Amino acid sequence: MKDAVMDFDYLRSELGSGLGTAAVIVMDKQTDIIKAIWRLSKFYKHESCGQCTPCREGTGWMMRVMERLVTGDAEPKEIDMLFDVTKQVEGHTICALGDAAAWPIQGLIRNFRDVIEERIAHKRSGARRPAAAR
Ligand code: SF4
Repeated sequence: MKDAVMDFDYLRSELGSGLGTAAVIVMDKQTDIIKAIWRLSKFYKHESCGQCTPCREGTGWMMRVMERLVTGDAEPKEIDMLFDVTKQVEGHTICALGDAAAWPIQGLIRNFRDVIEERIAHKRSGARRPAAAR
């Protein structure tokens, strides 16, 4: 990322990402990235006006799965299921809120799948997570 050009076209074509509204949140390595994305999911679920089904149902469904990923109480196969649901929401809603709700989760799964899998495995092993990740 340190070599990324902070430009709408570059981020989209070269990194499969985006600049969104050009607001930037900087997080350090202590941040629980799964919880951070869950918080975004909660925001979008709250903001959904409910007019179209993929957004109304999808944002709630995605937030609930994200909740379980935060605690590690999920099946590993749910990671791909969650990604599939984001694809069913993306591009299938009246306004851009559906896309905005889907993209952070897609980015989480694309870039931090190992962190999600590790959290699930850790939970299954019965070990306690470090305090910073709770
Ligand atoms: S995508 Fe927009 S219009 Fe559709 S339910 Fe969500 S907020 Fe409402």
